[in-house]
Amino acid sequence: MNTEAKSVFLDYNSTTPVQDEVMEAMLPYFAGHFGNPSSSHSFGQQAQIAIDKARMQLASLIGAKADEIIFTGSGTESNNTAIIGIADKIKSKGNHIITTSTEHSSVYNTCRFLESRSFDITYLSVDSNGIVSKESLEKAITDKTILISIILANNETGVIQNVRELSSIAKNKGILLHSDAVQAAGKIPLEVNDLGIDLLSISGHKIYAPKGIGALFIKRGLSLSPLIHGGGQEKKLRSGTENVPAIVGFGKAAELAKNNLSENSIKLLKIRDLFEQKILNLNLPVKINGSGVPRVPNTSNISFIGSDSQSLLVKLDLNGICVSSGSACGSASLETSRTLKAMALTDSEQLGTIRFSFGLQTTIEEIDFTIEVLRKIVS
Ligand SMILES: *Cc1c(COP(=O)(O)O)cnc(C)c1O
Repeated sequence: MNTEAKSVFLDYNSTTPVQDEVMEAMLPYFAGHFGNPSSSHSFGQQAQIAIDKARMQLASLIGAKADEIIFTGSGTESNNTAIIGIADKIKSKGNHIITTSTEHSSVYNTCRFLESRSFDITYLSVDSNGIVSKESLEKAITDKTILISIILANNETGVIQNVRELSSIAKNKGILLHSDAVQAAGKIPLEVNDLGIDLLSISGHKIYAPKGIGALFIKRGLSLSPLIHGGGQEKKLRSGTENVPAIVGFGKAAELAKNNLSENSIKLLKIRDLFEQKILNLNLPVKINGSGVPRVPNTSNISFIGSDSQSLLVKLDLNGICVSSGSACGSASLETSRTLKAMALTDSEQLGTIRFSFGLQTTIEEIDFTIEVLRKIVS
């Protein structure tokens, strides 16, 4: 019998553990194969070859070509590079950017920064499921619009935007489209050309690779200004010696995510459906946010109406269950969620909202245990 206190991690949208195969792939590049990819000798070449392979693995996950991928230090950096890089490069064409009111803080605060640099930003509203309409995008476009940035899958609710429909509007008007796909990668099929995307951000630690590694897809022929200047690595777009072990791990994680995509999503969907069915069976006043539209299979955003999510969070934690209220990044600041507010949840719905996000290690037993704890602590 295991007498240790149970620990149940249901916060995979905040981060994921490094998979064994990913760790194994990385290990040789810390010490044995430690070359600098910019060196022309054999040590350097070995590292360069490893990066090239990872670039292909990333490209394959999103239906891109290897030369359309650059590595960055995080999903946050990819978003900053895409938005500021384009804004700076083509500011002579216009100073208007359109985004949504449900973006991750790394897009939202980048847009706020650009507002302080005399850009105009439109934050599109969403419906009660968190979806942006194509009519609202059409209405927001002006002759000064240079970029549209739309989150593909929301980190709090898992809600998937209809990016293909939105990108066709952008394309008709000759406007570039960026998408933050950090929560979509590895969870739903992604084909950048089919989706009509010009720039797309991904992060390693959300797909079972290490923290501190990201990638940005930049459509062939598109040019942008770098944020970081120096030795000219990553096509002069991201100077600094590459984080070779993390890049190798990210490549492996992308390969695994692609190969196991349908199997993983079937498993996660089964767990999420079971969880939500059991939540509804508790007969508590709850609302499952975004459940009326397509969502990534691992995310369940639930309002326990009349409860306070902060106190639920503490009680769940005392029982070994790790979840998040709103988004992980926002929860420390006690800020209310921009996403839930934009979906027009009532104050008491917003106050009682918890995000459960499941992952490859989640078991049915963990779901049953969590439901039992919720039964006791939610009144
Ligand atoms: C986690 C996350 C990011 C940021 O990625 P980091 O690698 O942690 O900087 C960006 N967008 C979304 C939707 C995320 O969930």
